[in-house]
Amino acid sequence: MSSPDAPVGNSPNLCPAVLGQELARTALARAMASGRVAHAYLLAGPEGVGKRLFADELGRALLCPRGGWGSGRPNEVGACGLCSSCVLPPESHPGLRVLETPPGGAIDIAAIREAIQSLSLRARERRCIILDGADSMAPPAANALLKTLEEPPPGIIFLLVSSRPAHLLETIISRTQRVPFAPLSPEQFGIALARRGEGEAPSGGGGVSPEVLHLHRIAGGAPGVAVRLLAGITACGGRERFLALLSGVGAENPSSLVEYLPALPKETVRARVHRLLELVQCGLWGERAEDPRLRQETGERALLVGELIRGLAGGRSTELTLELLARILRNAEAERVTRRLPRSFFAGG
Ligand SMILES: [Zn+2]
Repeated sequence: MSSPDAPVGNSPNLCPAVLGQELARTALARAMASGRVAHAYLLAGPEGVGKRLFADELGRALLCPRGGWGSGRPNEVGACGLCSSCVLPPESHPGLRVLETPPGGAIDIAAIREAIQSLSLRARERRCIILDGADSMAPPAANALLKTLEEPPPGIIFLLVSSRPAHLLETIISRTQRVPFAPLSPEQFGIALARRGEGEAPSGGGGVSPEVLHLHRIAGGAPGVAVRLLAGITACGGRERFLALLSGVGAENPSSLVEYLPALPKETVRARVHRLLELVQCGLWGERAEDPRLRQETGERALLVGELIRGLAGGRSTELTLELLARILRNAEAERVTRRLPRSFFAGG
């Protein structure tokens, strides 16, 4: 590969679709090359910076018989892309299971048990489980995972993906090896956006457009967040309507807030509310970046919306969630909002 953003010099080429993240890449390439791969990794870092893509590519590399496992050459490890393991789509690979958090829900215990059981049948092969959104697991699922990590089935490698590792059980964290992910530089961010069809890639001279720089600041260097934000603003019917949502227009009738986002085909109300919460949270982070005077207050409101997302995943009703969202949007002062929220607001469920 010789694209302008391809790794240069002595950088490993593991997970080439992911931009930046050299710490993660180097750590995993060394582990693979030395043959000392841990049984569980925690891919931790901000939302939207490439953790899941990295997990997908790493899973492929780990399962590829020509992936360079134990080769002693970190720069040469990675999926070959040609063997029978590499050409299988992830959903039909017998050695790979991907568990994802449904929007507004959580990975459940049955899914974890089923994945481990089905992989246990292939005891002689290398196998891999990706848990995306590992931090949203309800206690029974988290405990089932913990039990498995305490006595790991030989040959199964767990890749936990989390944007909020502080919400994982301490005992799970201590049984994983942490792989840190970071926000992208403006240049990498611009390339990532261009790859997803948003804007043009920065030229070789390092010219990042003012629009991309602005978006980079709002999205905290996370292209995944920026793409979601742009799509959400469009779905809302444009910037004006999005700003109206953020400033609490319509909040006197909480159940109508969800109307800001047209439902997607087959989308549940819960998933739609989840999408709305994520959009509001992105918007509040953006406002925070825009206006230093409001920084603290807006940041606190964004964190409160984050709590709502967690509560929804934990089973809180969509009605109560919208009611609490309306209060956050109506009230300018986060402190006042916090005082008026019911105590259950901060509990997980
Ligand atoms: Zn291969």
